[in-house]
Amino acid sequence: MDIGFIGLGKMGFPMARRLIEAGHRLVVYDQRKEAVDKLVSLGAKAASSPKDVADRAETVLASLPSLQASLEVATGAGGVIEGSQVKRFVDLSTVGSQMAVRIHGLLAKRGIVQIDSPVSGGVGGAEKGTLAVMVSGPRADFDATRPALEVIGKLFFIGEKPGSGQTMKLANNLLSATAVVATSEAVVMGVKAGLDPAVMIDVINAGSGMNTASRDKFPRSILPRTFDFGFATGLMVKDVRLCLEEMKSLDLSMEVAEAVGRLWEVVIRDMGAESDFTSAIKPIEQAAGVVVGGSKARAAE
Ligand code: NAD
Repeated sequence: MDIGFIGLGKMGFPMARRLIEAGHRLVVYDQRKEAVDKLVSLGAKAASSPKDVADRAETVLASLPSLQASLEVATGAGGVIEGSQVKRFVDLSTVGSQMAVRIHGLLAKRGIVQIDSPVSGGVGGAEKGTLAVMVSGPRADFDATRPALEVIGKLFFIGEKPGSGQTMKLANNLLSATAVVATSEAVVMGVKAGLDPAVMIDVINAGSGMNTASRDKFPRSILPRTFDFGFATGLMVKDVRLCLEEMKSLDLSMEVAEAVGRLWEVVIRDMGAESDFTSAIKPIEQAAGVVVGGSKARAAE
């Protein structure tokens, strides 16, 4: 099918590439010309703006880094809202349910359907097409987008209510954010007491403490100290803040989530928004006066 794709970053690029490889015809746009050029060399057509994308495809997908970017791309001047062909705007970004509902309302006035479709599974999942894809919107439009979304991962229909996919995604990412800082605290405690962090991670992964940080992030990016997992601290903090806002809007006060939120505010303050989110261990190490992993841990293997 003809698909528009806007936002060709760490997640968007591999998703768009998979769609081309699956035989779909893509029209793409990104503020970064080099990302567009790379996809054109793989067979995509370049567009000059989000409106241009929406002039040329009925289904427009977007994978963007901030709430403001999604709002502008969808509803701003020169945005998808002004396109002549577009029937549905599928937002793969994490924007929270309030922003999703706002974009939904603005697009609905022009007869364009907004579909929430945040994803989980990281850059590796985007490359392999194994993302968890959390879709909410009208059933008929979900069915119309199925041939495209099935290429990027496993589909879950969350419901017809706008924003439901986002609520699902924030619940998931709260757990992902918690796993990184909680596992960091556990491992830093062990290292302070003289344990080998590589042995600790092996034990945790064979035991009941196993989680996505111990299984994926520690072996790949924290123990080798490469801090290159592919998700920016700024994006993780965006998601944690959105989750806390979502809880507040539901009149909930949740203690673990609030503590996790405070820890991630320290990470963004000390490590910066551009750092990889696996750097979250560094302020915890610093407070404890230890360093986890690196050549010492490797030599011990
Ligand atoms: P990214 O910063 O790597 O990519 C964003 C892309 O959007 C960039 O290429 C940028 O140039 C482009 N862009 C920004 N503003 C634009 C605009 N106004 N018009 C056109 N292009 C614009 O971000 P990412 O890591 O790919 O994340 C994208 C979304 O996916 C975010 O909402 C993030 O929370 C979510 N997400 C990321 C991961 C991950 O592991 N990286 C996992 C799941 C979900």
